[in-house]
Amino acid sequence: MARIFSGIQPSGELHIGNYLGAVKNWVALQHTAESIFCIVDYHAIIGAYEPDQLRARRREMALGLLAAGIDPDVASLFVQSDVPEHTELAWIFNTVTPLGELERQTQFKDKSQRMESVNAGLLNYPILQAADIMLYRADQVPVGEDQIQHLELARVIARRWNAQFAGEQEFFPEPKPLLTPTRRIMGLDGQSKMSKSMGNTIGMMESRDEIWAKLRPAVTDPKRIKKTDPGTPEVCNIYHLHRAFSPPPTVEHVAVQCSTAGWGCIDCKKVLLESMETELVPIRTRAEELRAQPDRLDAALASGAEKCRGIARETMRGVRDRMGFG
Ligand code: ATP
Ligand code: MG
Repeated sequence: MARIFSGIQPSGELHIGNYLGAVKNWVALQHTAESIFCIVDYHAIIGAYEPDQLRARRREMALGLLAAGIDPDVASLFVQSDVPEHTELAWIFNTVTPLGELERQTQFKDKSQRMESVNAGLLNYPILQAADIMLYRADQVPVGEDQIQHLELARVIARRWNAQFAGEQEFFPEPKPLLTPTRRIMGLDGQSKMSKSMGNTIGMMESRDEIWAKLRPAVTDPKRIKKTDPGTPEVCNIYHLHRAFSPPPTVEHVAVQCSTAGWGCIDCKKVLLESMETELVPIRTRAEELRAQPDRLDAALASGAEKCRGIARETMRGVRDRMGFG
């Protein structure tokens, strides 16, 4: 059976970009492969943060993932810092990772531009990510499009380590991305990828009113200035959100109404809001139920960590042995 692994940072609220690019796929895939999902809190400390805030966000993320449909009886959900082998393997991978490859990573270039002072953790982020995946010797990684480049680097790391220490064997499988049709959701600014760190998100737990307050002013086709100007659906972020949330006949109808100026953008956004509510209300309801049962959340994370510690220890035994430790 294939083993899939993926992670999400507790660096802010779970948003619809995370959901459509990754988490929705996790929920679908958990029944088809042995699945391990990780709240990667060591990744999330690269940017400035408050310790209490991290504690709260970690729990909130776990709650959001369970509410979105991760089933702890089927998949393992755990917190990265509960399995110390992640950082151990990351250190080892530091020693086989070419510096030039790290400096070329788009996420490093983008995020370092937005930081006042850049720490080595930001540069080395993909090494820890490679360790996260490889600790479980996972071969498939369901992620959004922005992570494809990091996975290419993870494959370079696997190849280099295997070549140096595994002889003819493939100790670490080369992990491949699994993408969704909604692999890159743009932020409400229409300028960049929706990201927790950019403040351009719609949160999975936001209320109908909060979502509407964000959708109403959201950027649409910039050439559609007056309601009577026909629009080009393909260039409009709202149209792409319809493709993610609305049933196909609605999507077709939206495209016609936009390109013939039958609807104004507000009409189009109102229909989108209804489609979003259809998908998100059950998730919010489950989240409320879970919030009232904190023991269920603790139990899910504890059993996930227990299982993952077992796998991680075994992998590290193999790694240490092949590298001349112990
Ligand atoms: P941060 O801004 O802190 O990096 P993020 O919103 O990018 O947060 P991550 O925790 O880095 O979220 O990513 C979690 C998963 O969500 C990854 O698989 C990533 O590819 C996916 N993802 C993130 N943003 C988007 C997006 N806008 N569209 C599709 N997938 C996304
Ligand atoms: Mg990110």
